[in-house]
Amino acid sequence: MRDAGFVRRWLEAAAVVVEREADRLTELDSPIGDADHGANLLRGFAAVRAALAGAEPAAAPGALLQLAGRTLISTVGGASGPLYGTLLRRTGKELGEAAEVSDEELRKALYAGVAAVAQLGGAAPGDKTMLDALVPGVTALSTSYRAAGDAAAAGARATTPMTARKGRASYLGERSIGHQDPGATSAALLLGALADTAEGVA
Ligand code: ADP
Ligand code: MG
Repeated sequence: MRDAGFVRRWLEAAAVVVEREADRLTELDSPIGDADHGANLLRGFAAVRAALAGAEPAAAPGALLQLAGRTLISTVGGASGPLYGTLLRRTGKELGEAAEVSDEELRKALYAGVAAVAQLGGAAPGDKTMLDALVPGVTALSTSYRAAGDAAAAGARATTPMTARKGRASYLGERSIGHQDPGATSAALLLGALADTAEGVA
C-alpha cells in the first residue's frame, strides 16, 4: 500500500530531477517553443515543495496530489502548468480521502489523470506533446513502475521525428520535425521519479 509519505517522496524526487534537468528542458523548448519549459517547471515544483511543507501532516495521498496540482496551476504561466496541474489534481481526486491506496488504485487514478490532460489540451498520442510519454507510461504501469518510467522515456524519444500538432510547437508545422518535445521529456522525468520512489532509490 502507498501512503502520504510515498506521494511526498515522489513529488520531492520530481522537484529534484526538475532542478537537475531544468536547463536541458529549456534548451529543448528553444527551437520549437519559447525557451521557458525548464524555468516553468522549476518555479512550479519549488512552489509544490513549499505547499507540501505547509500541508497538514495528516493529509491523505489524494489531498496532497490535489494540493500539488492546484499549486502548479496557480504558479506556472505556460501551457504545462494547467496540464500537469490537471494530471495531479485529477489523480488526487480519484484517490479520494483514503490514507493508503493500492498500486492498482494509484495506476487507475493516474490513468484518469492522463485522460483529463488529453481532454483539457485536446491532444492525442502522435501530436508531439507530453501525452506521447504519459500515455505509454501509464499504460506500462500495469507491468511495473520501472516499466512505466522506461516506456515514458522511449515515448519522449519517439517525439523527435513527429510533426507537432498542439501547443506552441505546432506553429512551426514540419519545422518541428527533428526536435524532441520538451513536455514529453519532462513527463518521462516525472514517471522516472515515480519509479525511483517505488523502488526506494529516490
Ligand atoms: P508554453 O508552451 O506555454 O511555453 P511550456 O513550455 O511550459 O509551456 O510547455 C510546453 C509543453 O507543453 C510542450 O512541449 C508540450 O509537451 C506540452 N503541451 C503544449 N500544449 C499541449 C496540449 N494541448 N496538450 C498536451 N500537451 C501540451
Ligand atoms: Mg515554453
